[in-house]
Amino acid sequence: MSVRVRFAPSPTGTLHVGGARTALYNYLFARANGGRFILRIEDTDTARSTDDSVQAIFAGLRWLGLEWDEGPGAEGAHGPYFQSERRERYQHHLRTLEASSAVYPCFCSPEELEARRAEQLAGGAGPRYDGRCRRLSAPERAEALASRRPAAWRFATPTDGETAWDDVLRDRVEFRNEVLEDFVVMRSDGLPTYNYACVVDDHEMEITHVVRGDDHISNTPRQRLLYDAFGWTAPQFAHVPMILGADGSRLSKRHGATSVGAYAELGMIPEAMVNFLALLGWSYDGERELFTLAELEQLFRLERVGKNPAIFDLQKLEWMNGQHLKRLSEPDRVERVTQFLAQSGHDLSARTPEWRLTLVRAIGDRLKTLADARRYAAFCLEDPLVRDESAWTPVLERPKIGPRLREMSLRIEADGEFSLTSLEAAIRSLAAERGLKLGDLIGAARIALTGGQVSPGFFEVVWLLGRDRAVTRLREAAGEWERNSPLAAAGS
Ligand code: GLU
Repeated sequence: MSVRVRFAPSPTGTLHVGGARTALYNYLFARANGGRFILRIEDTDTARSTDDSVQAIFAGLRWLGLEWDEGPGAEGAHGPYFQSERRERYQHHLRTLEASSAVYPCFCSPEELEARRAEQLAGGAGPRYDGRCRRLSAPERAEALASRRPAAWRFATPTDGETAWDDVLRDRVEFRNEVLEDFVVMRSDGLPTYNYACVVDDHEMEITHVVRGDDHISNTPRQRLLYDAFGWTAPQFAHVPMILGADGSRLSKRHGATSVGAYAELGMIPEAMVNFLALLGWSYDGERELFTLAELEQLFRLERVGKNPAIFDLQKLEWMNGQHLKRLSEPDRVERVTQFLAQSGHDLSARTPEWRLTLVRAIGDRLKTLADARRYAAFCLEDPLVRDESAWTPVLERPKIGPRLREMSLRIEADGEFSLTSLEAAIRSLAAERGLKLGDLIGAARIALTGGQVSPGFFEVVWLLGRDRAVTRLREAAGEWERNSPLAAAGS
């Protein structure tokens, strides 16, 4: 039987890191086994599901490169793929469960249930359904149904015995049935509960393996009971350990960004995100860390997903991102930087391809995230210059800065060719003529041109600014030094 797996998000928010990892593992497992990857939107919670969230999930999966073989927009033989469009299927199968008395109608109102729950809690007992409607006699039940009292449908859970399965990623998991209570499969408003809809869909969609977060472990015995009640073969279950933040607690907003889209905004590229997510629980040989999606599609083995929770280490993601940025072809890297800057409001379309290329080369290996491009390029993208005063103030204590900045501005102005080579030659010869080391000559000029001491290479900085802006900034800084330096008046 060929592998069929699914990612089944509830569209109640963005695609978060945990969901993206689940999607990735399902996708990779399908690809590594020549199987199918299905996307199913579990939108039966009508109050919380939104179309924006559906779109965010699509966008997140596409950004990561996880195209689904079947699902919304890729209709297959097992659709529809929105649970909200499958209500008739849930009703249909409910009749089977009803016929075999695997389920019974429950007429208890939400208020009654709440009052009993409060009572149980007050008495120190764990709250659970007390089985009242299960004990109705056949005539009582028939009468209540005939009077059209709103009814939910509950599963008649066995009161003894165990429900167990051999999880692909852990040892045998067992639950005593008595702790499972008579859970609702269909609410009185005609909407299925998650456990029930999930089983109907996984069966109808011929899912062979359910790979999902271990926060669903407590749902699995209920789902298995439903498979048994239907007489269907259950898929294999693989519960993936959770993701923890650096402090060891479950990854949450407290730890920073949790949505995949937020990482894109931080300047991560999908190649790195996929690599990083893959290693949040899975490992190849415990050593190798860099993989492309295509490589992962070949190498992924479900059995190599660990049993322990994985730690989300942002520094590692940044390192990986830098590595994947380096592996891109240069035109591709330029394109990503250009697009990222455009999204941050810096449209480079009026710049020449050579300018964009020079910018990316000038940033070089400093580019760990695309946001680094925004930081290192700020000097030439934004006017007026934002200056780091702690870098500039000491310059006022140094002699001859004003005259040198002016001299440099004259050389730049006079450089007709204005290329990286000609600029370098002009500035080096100025340094030699004045008996200065190049570094001493350009230190203050770098602050004058970029606002700080850390920047891309100096000649690139001048070139990227262009002659006029470079000259203006050097002269403005010279003027400031002349007005404010105690050494200016001394004529030094
Ligand atoms: N809709 C569920 C969720 O988003 C799916 C769980 C499952 O994979 O069965 O958590």
